[in-house]
Amino acid sequence: MSEPVAPEAASAAAGETSPAPGSAPGSVTRVMLEILIHGPLSRVELAQRLGLSGPSLTRITKPLIASGRLFEGAPQVRAAGRPLQPLDLDPSSEYFAGVKLTGNAVYSVMADLRGAVRAQHEEPLAGRDPETVADAVARSVRAFGSAFRPLGGVGISLGGNSADGRFVDESHFLEWRDVPLADLVEQRLGLPVVVANDVNALTQAQRWFGGGRGLDTFVVVTIGAGVGMGLVAGGELVAGATGAVGSIGHQLLAWSEAVCWRGHHGCASALLATDAVERAAARASGLPVGDVVFDDVLRGAERGDPELRAVVDEAGTALGLLLANVANTLDPQKIVLAGEGARLGVVGEHAMLTAFAEGRVWRSVSTPVDVQPFEFSEWARGAAAMAIRARMLHDVPARPASD
Ligand SMILES: [Zn+2]
Repeated sequence: MSEPVAPEAASAAAGETSPAPGSAPGSVTRVMLEILIHGPLSRVELAQRLGLSGPSLTRITKPLIASGRLFEGAPQVRAAGRPLQPLDLDPSSEYFAGVKLTGNAVYSVMADLRGAVRAQHEEPLAGRDPETVADAVARSVRAFGSAFRPLGGVGISLGGNSADGRFVDESHFLEWRDVPLADLVEQRLGLPVVVANDVNALTQAQRWFGGGRGLDTFVVVTIGAGVGMGLVAGGELVAGATGAVGSIGHQLLAWSEAVCWRGHHGCASALLATDAVERAAARASGLPVGDVVFDDVLRGAERGDPELRAVVDEAGTALGLLLANVANTLDPQKIVLAGEGARLGVVGEHAMLTAFAEGRVWRSVSTPVDVQPFEFSEWARGAAAMAIRARMLHDVPARPASD
C-alpha cells in the first residue's frame, strides 16, 4: 500500500508531476489531497505539511491555478507580516455518484468533490441477477440528470467483499460469487466505477470528510442488522487480503442464551445488532418480535421504562466489551460509531463506557468514542467517497487490496 496522506508518510513519494495510473501519488496529488481534506491552506502551511520548499510548491501550484483546479481565496490578514492568501479548490468542480446496494433496493447519492451530498435517489431492485442490478445502478445514476457535471466516477458499496475494486468476490445477500460488477456498470455508463465493501467505504468517508479527518489510526464500528468494522492504520485505509477487514460481528463476548444466525451464543451480532436488541426487548415485554422496533426500544429506555432500560444497558455493556477488544487489539486514536444502530452508544452510553473501561488493559489510556449522527444515505455517501478516492489517486485500474 502506498497512499501518503499524512505529510510524514508522503515525503517518501515526492515526484513533481501527476502519477501514472497505479503509481504512488506525486506532489500534485498530495497538494490536491491536502486541500481537499483540510480545506483552504496557505502556501506556507502547505509547504510545511508536505515537506516541500517554497519554490517547489510554487512550481506545482502554478499550473493547477492556471487550469482552474485550484484558486486563490480571500487574503487572511495577520497581525504581523504579509497577509496569507490560502489556496482552495471548488467542490462543485466535479461530482461523484455513490450507490449502496442492499438485497432489494438501490440507494444512491450525488456528492461533490468534498463528499457533501447534493441529491439522493432510491429505487427497488427487480431482481438479483448481475445484469438486472447493473441496469438498476445505471438507471439510478442517470436519474440525477444533467445538473451534476462533470461526473468524475461512480462508487458502489455493498455488504460483501471485493479485493480488487472491480469484482464482487462474494455477497451473501445478493447470492453472488465473482461478479464483474464494475465492468457491467462501466459498459452502461461509460464512467469509471469502483466497487467496495460497504463498511470500508463508510470508513473512507469518515477518514477524509468525517470524524477521522487528520487521524493516523482510527476505527469505525458499525451497528445495524450486522456489526462491522473499518480500519485506518498508519494513515491508510486497510482493506485486508479479501477486501473485507474487520468482520467483528461474530466475536464472542459472553456466553448467552441469545444466538445469532450462525448459531453463536453471545457473539456481537447476537447481543447488540439492531434485531438482537429488538428480540431482547420482545422477550422482556412479552410482545411479538415483529411488533418491536429498535428506535422505539431506545426511546422507551430514554423515557425511563425499566425493562427497556435493562435491555439497552445489556446491549450497551456488550458494545463496550466489543470496543475494548478492538481497542486492545489495534490501539486506535479514536473509535467512530456509525450505522443505523449507532445511537445505542448514546442511550446506552453509561453501560458501554463502564464495560469499555473495564475491558481495557491500560487504565491510564482513554480512547474517545465518537457517535456519528447517522442517516441511511451515509452508506451511499461512503460509496461516493471511494469514487473520489479513486479519482484523486488516479487509481481506477485494478490493484488488489492496495492504494
Ligand atoms: Zn455470531
